[in-house]
Amino acid sequence: MEATEYIWMDGELVPWNDANIHVLSHGLHYGTGAFEGIRAYEAIDGTAVFRLTDHIDRLARSAKALGIPFEYSVEELVEVSKELLRVNGLTSGYLRPITFFGTGSMGLNPAGANVQMVIAAWEWGAYLGEDGLQNGIRVAVSSWRRLSHDSFMPDAKGTGGYMNSVLAKTAAIRAGYDEALMLNKDGLIAEGSGENLFMIRNGSVFTPPTSAGALDGITRDSVFQLLEEDGYTIRESAISRTDLYYADEVFFTGTAAEVTPVREVDDRPVGDGKPGPVTRRAQDLFMGTVTAKLGLHPEWLEYI
Ligand code: PMP
Repeated sequence: MEATEYIWMDGELVPWNDANIHVLSHGLHYGTGAFEGIRAYEAIDGTAVFRLTDHIDRLARSAKALGIPFEYSVEELVEVSKELLRVNGLTSGYLRPITFFGTGSMGLNPAGANVQMVIAAWEWGAYLGEDGLQNGIRVAVSSWRRLSHDSFMPDAKGTGGYMNSVLAKTAAIRAGYDEALMLNKDGLIAEGSGENLFMIRNGSVFTPPTSAGALDGITRDSVFQLLEEDGYTIRESAISRTDLYYADEVFFTGTAAEVTPVREVDDRPVGDGKPGPVTRRAQDLFMGTVTAKLGLHPEWLEYI
């Protein structure tokens, strides 16, 4: 990870190395925070942040669900995000807003702790590798189940919940795979450790609903709309592990992962083991949209 010059912290731009927090921050001990991951692209008319307002909206939603006071307006944070890219001289990159309880309480009840808000930005290439984007990745079902609606909130981006994703991700890497596939407590497909999943079988496209334990991903929503507008029918439906073994195509979506083909599930090739036509179409539509080359959904591009 390459440092940039400034991080925005609680209302001020501070040098990267000075953006520190106290070791007794509530969020560090108990994971009482919410965060976002956002990408900016070099679009044809300049640097555009993809669905920036929607991401900041989700941050506010996550914070509300998790009981973290949200003291900024969405508009303010949108402006700060754009300014941060400008002052760091980034023409593309990744933005990481995070809000969490700071110091003032060491009991589980965070009352009395201050709430901090930070936004950082840096350059970030393909999350699952360039080769992954081109040729697809190998995934395996994790022995770790996706956290479920009866014990946490899989559809809020709460920092503490990501220990669940980290366990799945690191176990998958140790076992020689590129990414983990997580089942929910009913044994149905929820999502990847940090990506939503789509499956294609006999020309129909399927993705698990958020009730299955998936985050309501902004890339998921974008690809959903783009494929529908391109003539595909997409169904939110329960997907079993066996469905994936029978699938013609599988791909992941996410801000970091963009649209990444999955070429193997549990050591079985997906289709013929090469990214298929719907996956390629989804990749082209998505990349053509974020860079403005296709002129689709200009309202999703927020120029800095
Ligand atoms: N699922 C999880 C668990 C994630 O962390 C992410 C990344 N935010 C996604 C799905 C994809 O969501 P998005 O497209 O909004 O980045």
